[in-house]
Formats: sequence, C-alpha cells, structure tokens
Amino acid sequence: MSMISKKMTPLVNNNSAIRAMFEEGKRLAAVYGAENVFDFSLGNPNVPAPAAVNQAICDIVREEPSALVHGYMNNAGFEDVREAIAASLNRRFHTAFHMGNILMTVGAASGLNVILKTLLDPGDQVLTFAPYFVEYGNYVRNYDGILEVVLPDTDTFQPNLEELSRRITERTKAVIINTPNNPTGVIYSAETLTRLGSILEEKEKAFGTQIVLISDEPYRELAYDGVEVPYVTKFYHNTVVCYSYSKSLSLPGERIGYLVIPDELTDSSEVFNAAVIANRVTGSVNAPSLMQRVIMRCVDEQADLEAYDRNRNLLYQGLREAGFECVKPQGAFYMFVKSPEPDEKKFCEACRQERILVVPGSSFACPGYVRISYCVSYDQIRRSLPGFKRIAKAYGL
Ligand code: PLP
Repeated sequence: MSMISKKMTPLVNNNSAIRAMFEEGKRLAAVYGAENVFDFSLGNPNVPAPAAVNQAICDIVREEPSALVHGYMNNAGFEDVREAIAASLNRRFHTAFHMGNILMTVGAASGLNVILKTLLDPGDQVLTFAPYFVEYGNYVRNYDGILEVVLPDTDTFQPNLEELSRRITERTKAVIINTPNNPTGVIYSAETLTRLGSILEEKEKAFGTQIVLISDEPYRELAYDGVEVPYVTKFYHNTVVCYSYSKSLSLPGERIGYLVIPDELTDSSEVFNAAVIANRVTGSVNAPSLMQRVIMRCVDEQADLEAYDRNRNLLYQGLREAGFECVKPQGAFYMFVKSPEPDEKKFCEACRQERILVVPGSSFACPGYVRISYCVSYDQIRRSLPGFKRIAKAYGL
C-alpha cells in the first residue's frame, strides 16, 4: 500500500509529462547548446520587473519599520495596500471598490483555491471553457468539487455560451473564465460578457441558486492594439475577480495577487470573511508582506508590454508565412496554433526534432492545437523561424 493518498496519486503520475518536457529541454541544451534549443513551453515572463519594483524593495527595507515589513497582519492583508488597490481599480475601471472588497493572496493560484474553498461543497459543479489552464481541475478537486468543461469554439476561441447554458444545473456553484486567455490569447468582449451575465442571471432565477462567476485574470494588463479588457464585475453581480502580479509586474516567484469580492455579490461580507479564513486555513495565512508593501508603491506600474508585442508580431507573421493557422492573440503571451495533423503530440515531436519545444493542446483539454509561449527573447523567436518553416514544408503547408 502506498504512503501517498489516493487523491495525490493521479497528480504524481500526470506530473511526469511536464517533467519529461523540462528534462528534454535540459538534455537538448547539453547536446546542442542552450542557444540552439527553442523552448516555448513555459509561461515564465522574460521581461524584467519594472525598475520601480526593485527600487521599492530597497526603499521599503531602508525606510519602513522591520516589524511591520516582516510581521504578521490581518489575514486579508495590509489595510493601506488594499485601499490603494481599490483606488487604483476605481481610477482605471470606474468601479466603486473599497478596502473591504480586496483580499491579498499568494498569487492567482492561491486566490483561486481560497475562493473555491470558500464556495464549494463536495459534489458541487464548476464549469469552465476549453481550452483552459489545467490546474483548475486540480484546484476544484482540492475541495471535492467536479470540474466540467464546455467544448471550444475553435473558429474564434470565444466561449461557447450556447453550450454553457445547456450545461448549467442546480449543482452549478461557479463558472471560471480566463480573459485574456491562456492558452489562446483571446480577450472576451463586452458583448460576450453581457451575454454571459444574462445567462447566469437567468439560470440563477430558474434554479433558485447562486452561481459565482470567477474571473481569473493574471493577464489583464497584457492586451495589445489598444483592445479593452472589460472589467467583469460590471456585467454580473455574483462575480469574484482573481488577480495576480505574476505577469503584469513579472513577479511570478514572489507570489502576490488579490481577490476582489464586490459588495454586489450575494452575502458579500459573509463570503469575504469566509475567504479570509480560507486564506488562513489553506496555509497561506497572508500574502507575502514585503511584496504587499511593494504593491503599495507600485500599484500602477507595469512590465514592458512593447517587448511582448514585438514578439507577438514576429511570431505570428513568421508562422503565418510558413503556412500555419492561428487566431491572432489580442492578449497574454501565448499563441494557440493549429496542428497540421490531428494528433498534435506527433506535431510536437516533429517540432522537437527541430529542437523547438511547444505544449500539446490536450494539456488544455483542446487536442489538435499546440501552445507557443512567446515570453522569450526576440532573438529566440527569430532564430526558430527557419525550423518552423522546415516543419511546415515537411507537412506540405
Ligand atoms: N491562471 C492562469 C490562467 C495562469 O496562466 C496562471 C499561471 O500561469 C495562473 C492562474 C497562476 O498564476 P499565479 O502565478 O499568480 O499563481
């Protein structure tokens, strides 16, 4: 009998595929040299954090009392930081949040866990749209919920709302959306969110239930060509926003983000208080204190979006010229490219032969596509394009 729980065993087994890709990257780098391996598999920002972030860290350590900077606090986070975030959101999105709506979290991953722990009873259903960030399934299972996946609309990768409407039942407790999207880079328009909001309202009435729309938005600030990323709380009363600075400030290792639990949410203060306790009992206790102080000083800062935009244009143009098909991403730093053969894992293997590492769409519940992360150097993209062209030629594109 194994020491590991039955709940953990499938997680350990699934981890081997990601690990294998990581190991393969290392092996190829050892044989061919790191500069000849084109690793597009990770969503790890390559753009440095804004200079203001490093400056803030130095200033805080010099200027603020050590016991404050490194101490325990309210499990919801520092009040001045939460106030500053609410004010920044109100300035930028014309919302009316206050400190009592903002709960500091250990990144988006923890924010999602906190809100799911707060909401879910065993057997509750959570719906999301393929392709989706695969951790959602693990997070929902942490609280014995059941994640159900709405099939993708592969023409646009906008959410398939007709199917969503059919799939909602009296057991549906939450719907998770992610815009700008990982892995497609698609942004949900105001029109889409209006339709989504009215479907959820209709279903709440029909079933006499509450359905929470969880908007997972670590890529909110990464939008190109001036495309607006509408603020989701405006479209539906029972919305909770899950935000992270991992991408907007290039701080994924620092683990800092927040939840927005608006006043409009049913039983808002009760949910907020429960979420603060969930933050404590899931073991996070509170979001990293030094990083909270940094956010206080850098609340309107942003990493260099231009660099990602240049990468996006180079990669998109290069892949299109080679003959690949792809919806041009409007946000995030991913491209979701159609595999030239139905089994995209074989296509990934053909890429690997050119020392190009990409992630199969089946990792996002959307086979037949691959995800290419372009949060890499411009030079890596430029030097990978001849390889992509050779692959396209071999497929007769
Ligand atoms: N949600 C999505 C869609 C993501 O892509 C990621 C990370 O890549 C996360 C959540 C987790 O973000 P964080 O690093 O803030 O925990």
